[in-house]
Amino acid sequence: MKLADMKIHKLGRGYHLNEFKEFTNKKPVEMLPLPDEVVIPLLQHLGEPCEPIVKVGDKVKPGQLIGSLEEYWMAPIHSSVAGKVTAIEPRMTDSGQEINSVVIEVDKENSEFELPAHPRDPHELDVEALKDAIRHGGGVGMGGGACPTYININLDEPVETLILNGAECEPFLTCDQRQMVEWADELIGGAEILMRVIGAKKTYIGIETNKEDAIELLATKVENRRDIEVVALEAKYPQGYKKNIIKSVTGRTPPEGARSSEVGCIVKNVGTAITTYNAVVYGKGCFERVITVSGPGTVPKAGNYMVKVGTPIGHILSHCGVDTESLDGYKVIMGGPMTGASQKSLDVPIIKKTTGILVLPPEFVESGEISPCIRCGKCSDHCPVYLNPGALSVFVEAGDFESAVNWRLDQCAECGICSYVCPSRRPVTQMILRAKPEVKKIIRARRKAQKEREAAAKQKAAS
Ligand code: SF4
Ligand code: SF4
Repeated sequence: MKLADMKIHKLGRGYHLNEFKEFTNKKPVEMLPLPDEVVIPLLQHLGEPCEPIVKVGDKVKPGQLIGSLEEYWMAPIHSSVAGKVTAIEPRMTDSGQEINSVVIEVDKENSEFELPAHPRDPHELDVEALKDAIRHGGGVGMGGGACPTYININLDEPVETLILNGAECEPFLTCDQRQMVEWADELIGGAEILMRVIGAKKTYIGIETNKEDAIELLATKVENRRDIEVVALEAKYPQGYKKNIIKSVTGRTPPEGARSSEVGCIVKNVGTAITTYNAVVYGKGCFERVITVSGPGTVPKAGNYMVKVGTPIGHILSHCGVDTESLDGYKVIMGGPMTGASQKSLDVPIIKKTTGILVLPPEFVESGEISPCIRCGKCSDHCPVYLNPGALSVFVEAGDFESAVNWRLDQCAECGICSYVCPSRRPVTQMILRAKPEVKKIIRARRKAQKEREAAAKQKAAS
């Protein structure tokens, strides 16, 4: 099936960014050599941190469970290597927070995960057994969301549509594209498993048109199926934002504050589907992943690499030919340039949700005087959720969080477009992000007051 013959599903508001995918999009996934030490944080998901179930001095194997699975909102942690536990202590992570971590001295000779001699056939497993395998696999949203996979597929009611998100709309990143091309069968197998678990009748695999190879390969593989379909999406940022891809693929718009399942959809990253397949078929935990290492001429061996969770970013950059001693003025970003986090230390480890490492030079990371909002409206013109980011930034500056709530600050998708387009160089997204905790408090207080008013009115009516 050819892309030229397919309908292109448009995104409403958004922005055509420079893509910079040409540095890596044709580069097959390579195994990154092992570091001497891995640092595996015990919190790599949205939810509660895991408790360590190993102690200093223990020998571990690749795939061995090292972080517990007791709380519901938890994704278990597995060792990514063979080796000896040398410390369990707080270490710096990509969020800038110190998280309790298991430090392992790597035994490089024995760190290959052995696939089972008899892989499981998913068709022979019932839905509860599939769910159990997914929960034990410790998978999370591999596109950066980090919600434990098990949590949002464990539904009370079936959901009719599964959307696999292969938009990968952030510049530079190509890890999803390479996975779609190199593990297409595992991706389709993962979709079949997820469909059975959530009770879906149909899967749409949404892919931006700048990934022609992935679209054509997957569309050809499913062309005789009615239950799986590839959808070509306009390449426009942020096409991969959950509400956008639901709208682009199905035409449905989830109401504000509603879950996607309320419009009959569950959205999963394509990498999450592959991780799910590996968990069910091979009993393989989520302890390695594909990342893109790139930058505008800053990474001599830019590419897509399979990396063990816990590998420090300094080790990865050194392998890719970056002189890590000469990065003054450069920004090292974990994730994409629009939503990723700038890193202060190269000791920070890769975790399950890491999609890439970017090295951006001083001339690329535009800086300069921040000036007042000139009300040009550019940010509003491109905001994908129809906010007025300029006004929100002014409210936040003035500490007027009540107005920020009235102007729907909580709906911000954190896409970064408003900061990107602002001629006054205002860090609008960052201001909005900083205000979110205060705004959430006000929303909670308003809801509580509303409930109290309703209860009082009921009581009055009854008496
Ligand atoms: S306000 Fe939020 S959603 Fe709108 S452009 Fe800015 S970051 Fe994106
Ligand atoms: S783009 Fe910048 S200057 Fe223009 S309205 Fe938005 S915040 Fe104000």
